[in-house]
Amino acid sequence: MKSWPALYLPDTSDIDFPELRLNADRGIGDFSDLTNVRLYVCGITPYDATHLGHAATYLTFDMISRYLIATGKEVSFVENITDIDDPLLERATRDGIDWEDLAGNQIDLFRADMTALHIIPPQSFIAVTEVMPLVEAAISQLRDRGFTYLVDQDTYFDISSFLGDLPIPYEQALAIFAERGGDPDRVGKRNQLDPILWLSHREGEPSWPSVHGMGRPGWHIECSVIALRYLLGENFLTVSGSKSSLIDIQGGGSDLVFPHHFMSGAQAQALTGVPLSRSYIHGGMVGLDGQKMSKSLGNLVFVSKLLQSGRDAMAIRYALLLDHYAADRMWSDEILQTAESQIADIRSALSREDLPDVTGLINSINLDLADDLNTPSALAHLHQWSKELPSPDQYVISPGAGGRLARYLDAVLGLAL
Ligand code: ZN
Repeated sequence: MKSWPALYLPDTSDIDFPELRLNADRGIGDFSDLTNVRLYVCGITPYDATHLGHAATYLTFDMISRYLIATGKEVSFVENITDIDDPLLERATRDGIDWEDLAGNQIDLFRADMTALHIIPPQSFIAVTEVMPLVEAAISQLRDRGFTYLVDQDTYFDISSFLGDLPIPYEQALAIFAERGGDPDRVGKRNQLDPILWLSHREGEPSWPSVHGMGRPGWHIECSVIALRYLLGENFLTVSGSKSSLIDIQGGGSDLVFPHHFMSGAQAQALTGVPLSRSYIHGGMVGLDGQKMSKSLGNLVFVSKLLQSGRDAMAIRYALLLDHYAADRMWSDEILQTAESQIADIRSALSREDLPDVTGLINSINLDLADDLNTPSALAHLHQWSKELPSPDQYVISPGAGGRLARYLDAVLGLAL
């Protein structure tokens, strides 16, 4: 699938960056020993893109990528599109449109929103409908290794070997599994938490031919397969068992901790014998004016609508960075107004030709970012600097300081001001 346009990242090689440490939900958020960081981020199901919850998630991994790149590492970045799944088909039926048209339109909108927000595009932006033969082969390998069974014509994954790694208590897991697309009460399953790998053809739904029958893949196996294929290469099903993990960061919103990341990790490990990811990093949820933001409440705020109403994409980005990535937070128009006002202060300072040296400011922002991406503190330092500049007779003017700081903010914070 076509990604969105590549970004130009200004050179920051004259700056010393401390190593990034992230507080991973699972695994180790330390990448200091790596020269290439393999990042997989779970992408959209294209039917309600891009609301601010999505934007916050993709911004989080964009910030992580930018910082790692600034420290001299390469980042191999893969993102999927769940362009076949129950919610997409339900929405297409509800609205009386073809599911492929709905997905295509939403993916176009998502690309435009990511471009406006200065999100670095993935090298591989892969839709599940592009990888059906790979999913088929992976399910065959799981079958050969004894991890699958049939209920009627549907193929399930046997999760029993991985239940010791459940991130939450079993009873809680069952409830969340049911809420997020699982079928715990289906008769014939070995374990209520077993996820579907291949759903046999249902009347009125699209399906693909495979040795497992006509049908379509379950949600979790698509991410196991896309992550492995596009981060490890074509021979991903025969990967060596000597590695400690297959990739370095598995990312997404905190609503993916269970079941999606647990299941896709278990399936990748069942396929290869190696744990999927060195670290699991999750972004918090975004609410609106004191309420959870959700499609059922009908209060989703869309990036495209904000942009159409004339709001500045850089202010949206800045506003989302005013909270810590892992925190659940509330959105309101006041937060966007705060961002617009602070950006005006910073732009005004950057335009001055008589600024002092900015190395101290850059170093303090770097320390904030290296400490689990503490963007609230970084932006506070930046804004405070812009408001509290002493008069030029109190310091030595550093020619080009404004340009130097602007290039740093563009490269590391993604703020082109
Ligand atoms: Zn995923």
